[in-house]
Amino acid sequence: MSNAIYSQRIVSRRTLFAEAGMALGAAAVSRGALGAAGAPRGTLFDIHTHLTQGWIGSTTEPVTATHLLHWMDGHEIERAAVLPLVSPEAFWYPVTTEFVLRETAPHRDRLIPFCAIDPRTLATHLTTPKQVQDLLRRYREAGAKGFGEHKPRLAIDDPLSMRLYEACTAVGLPVLLHLDNEANMDKPGLPGFDRVASAFPELVLIGHGKGWWASIAGGISQADLQVGYPRGPIAPGGAIDALMDRHPNVYGDLSSSGAHALLRDSAFGGEFLRRRADRLLFGTDYYDRGQLDWPQFTMFDALKAPDEVRRKVAAENAVRVLKL
Ligand SMILES: [Zn+2]
Repeated sequence: MSNAIYSQRIVSRRTLFAEAGMALGAAAVSRGALGAAGAPRGTLFDIHTHLTQGWIGSTTEPVTATHLLHWMDGHEIERAAVLPLVSPEAFWYPVTTEFVLRETAPHRDRLIPFCAIDPRTLATHLTTPKQVQDLLRRYREAGAKGFGEHKPRLAIDDPLSMRLYEACTAVGLPVLLHLDNEANMDKPGLPGFDRVASAFPELVLIGHGKGWWASIAGGISQADLQVGYPRGPIAPGGAIDALMDRHPNVYGDLSSSGAHALLRDSAFGGEFLRRRADRLLFGTDYYDRGQLDWPQFTMFDALKAPDEVRRKVAAENAVRVLKL
C-alpha cells in the first residue's frame, strides 16, 4: 500500500477515535462503545511493543513502523510505547534507542519511543552520574517518554543498574523492566525489587516478564521465576501485592505473561485487576508478525472488569505515568 493511501487511513482512523472519545465524554461507557478488547473503542494504549530489523537469521518480515501501525489499527490500539532492546541477552540482536527514535519520528502521535542503556556501559563509558543523566536527557529531548525494556543479565539491584535507576529518577523517566532467572535476577518474594523500589521511591517501576508475573502467587521457588505461563489457582501471599502495598511507585505491565497470570485463576485475577486498577497497564509485547495468541484482548471481558477499571488499565494509567 502506498504511503499516501496509508496516511489517509491513519487520518480517518484518528478521526474515528476522536469522535469516539467525544461521544464517550464524561458519560458512562455503554457496552456498544466497547471495542475488540472490551475497552472503550479506539482508546487502547499498548505499553509494550517493539520494532525489529531484518537480520540474517530471521524467518519473518521485520516489524516496521508502518507494519506496527497497521497491526495496531487491526486491534483498535490507538497508541503504543516502542521499546528498544540493547542488552546482549535481551534479543537476537540489539534494537537500539537511536533506531527506535528515528523510526518512530514520523508517527509520534501514535508511536511513543522509550530509550535504553545497557548498565555495563556505566562501568566503561558513562562512568559519572552526569554522563548518564546527560545521555538520558538527550534521549528525552529526542522524544523518549520512558526507559526500557531494561533486560540485562544482572541482579535486579546490581550496583550498575542502581546507578541507572538513580539517573532515571533524576531525569524523570519511568523504568519498564523484564524479570526472570536470565534478566534482572531476583529471589522468590522479590527482595531485590523491594530494595530498588525502597531506594528510589520517586521512580515509577513497571514490572514485566515471567519471574515478575509468577510472583503474583505465594509459595513459589527459584525455578518458578522462569516458567513461561504457570497454570492453576494462585496461592495467596504473592510478592506483587506486597510490593504494591508497600510502594506506590510499583506498576505491572500486562503484556505477554501478564494477561496469562490474571486468567490462570479468574476469581483471583478479576479481584486483582479491580484492586490494582491504578497500577496495571495494558500491553501486548508484539515483536513478531507470527504472534497470534493475544489473551490481552479477551482479558477485560473474561474477568468481568467494570468500565472504570477498563478505562484506567486500557490507557489512563499509561498516559499518567508517561506524562503524555
Ligand atoms: Zn518485550
